[in-house]
Amino acid sequence: MKIAISYPPIVNERGQVAMVSQNRNVQYFKEPTYLLPVIHAQAATWLRDMGYEVLWDDGNSQLKTFDRWYGDLLAAAPDMVVFESTTPVMKFYWKLVDRLKGDLPKTVVVMTGFHSMRRPAETMEQSRTDIVLRSNHVDFTLRRLVPYIDEHDDWRQSCELEGLWIRREDDTFRDTGNFKQVEPLDLSPDVDRDLVQWKNYAYENGNFLQTPGTYATSVIRDCMFGKCTFCRYNGPDLTFSIRSVEKSLDEYQRLIEDYKVKEIFDDSGVWYRGKQARQFARGIIDRGLHKKGVYFGLNTRFAYLDEETIALMGKANFRFILVGLEAADEYTLRRLNKGYLPRHIIPNLEWYTRYGMHPHLTIMIGYFWQTREMLDQTVNMVREAMFKGLARTLQVTICTPIDYTPYHAECIDQGVLLTDDYDDFDMSKIIVSTPLPHEEYYRAVREMYGVALHPLFLARQVRFLASGRRRDWQFLFTYGWRALRRVRQHIYNLTRAGTSGGDGPGGCGQSTTD
Ligand code: SF4
Repeated sequence: MKIAISYPPIVNERGQVAMVSQNRNVQYFKEPTYLLPVIHAQAATWLRDMGYEVLWDDGNSQLKTFDRWYGDLLAAAPDMVVFESTTPVMKFYWKLVDRLKGDLPKTVVVMTGFHSMRRPAETMEQSRTDIVLRSNHVDFTLRRLVPYIDEHDDWRQSCELEGLWIRREDDTFRDTGNFKQVEPLDLSPDVDRDLVQWKNYAYENGNFLQTPGTYATSVIRDCMFGKCTFCRYNGPDLTFSIRSVEKSLDEYQRLIEDYKVKEIFDDSGVWYRGKQARQFARGIIDRGLHKKGVYFGLNTRFAYLDEETIALMGKANFRFILVGLEAADEYTLRRLNKGYLPRHIIPNLEWYTRYGMHPHLTIMIGYFWQTREMLDQTVNMVREAMFKGLARTLQVTICTPIDYTPYHAECIDQGVLLTDDYDDFDMSKIIVSTPLPHEEYYRAVREMYGVALHPLFLARQVRFLASGRRRDWQFLFTYGWRALRRVRQHIYNLTRAGTSGGDGPGGCGQSTTD
């Protein structure tokens, strides 16, 4: 069997490309950021190792136009195509699937991703999709499913592998029940970097101060915390699975020694904590990997890592710490079930900064309850953190209900959604009714991005140079212009017809990175 794991280029009317892949909310960007979908890449590697022909078909990172991508896919005529869904691109996918089934009627179309896994019947009804995967363990599920289809002509009737919705010959569909929530991640292979053409993802990514950079095979799948109401990792159907420290260290060593990468980012929803975090950092030091000039980065939460662990991570050469600052008022943090409070923010950031790391704040605005006072508290906290040098970069997104998370369900229950057209859920504008006019939130976003150009912030970066750390010099001189370019993009999006732009990739919840 030939299997294509496919990401079509999705371009909006402004020429911006949708960045779709696991862990992130879709956003449209003119300046590209190419994100490696790690679980799908593991699936591709595993199927290839099992002897199947695999086509790694990421039209975005391969710089294809939609027409070229589609033409190439038709020419390849795979037996199976695997897509990844999320709310704002569902309508696009449903149309695409029907077109593809018209052109390649024998190809089995499999839909993965958080939207369709929570609403499988909808995708079956709205398109000619053959199978919806309800599990985020795409690699484990495909590893079982592909051989089954390969060996059973009657798979539409007979397949009982768990966690699937399958279309029968007569166009009805059936549900094979719940999927396995926890999988032994050590069984799934490390991503084959050559198969996925890793260099396509190694440069255009704001998480990397040095290039080439790459994403590690994630140590945690979904999230160990998993309670934040807006996050796709929250749900009764989800828990988390974990990869061993040693296996991950082996991969880091290979990436550094064989592939000569300069920065490695782990895009787990939230990275290790406690004992495992310390074991990992010690392992990096014991193997001498901290002396190779390579930086390490991760997603984490406030009130998660203690000072001892952070100190060890500093020694091990960790740099980029992406942390969600969803709001700075207690009411919102409690309502979002974030598990931290405003008083945790500054002390946590002080630790990261003390041990030489570069915290990146991912801020959200536009909750349907957010008052002027709440909004101001967030803006003031962000200004304080940035001016004091406690955070180096930031990115602000509109909290958009997607993928039928608890927040999405709450917006529906409360009747605050202003649209039910999935195309409007692309994080480019506020789509809930709010206590303040929407323009007030957009103004707050502009104000927060403006911090990156503020003399106080710039002066603080110059003072960091006295530390003598190479990363601080790189930050100011190498990364600075890249950051400016991206800030310009956000401000462009924000000032365009009063809408608000988000940005790049991200791990923790709705966060995205710059
Ligand atoms: S927002 Fe972050 S901490 Fe919260 S459930 Fe999602 S990944 Fe986990």
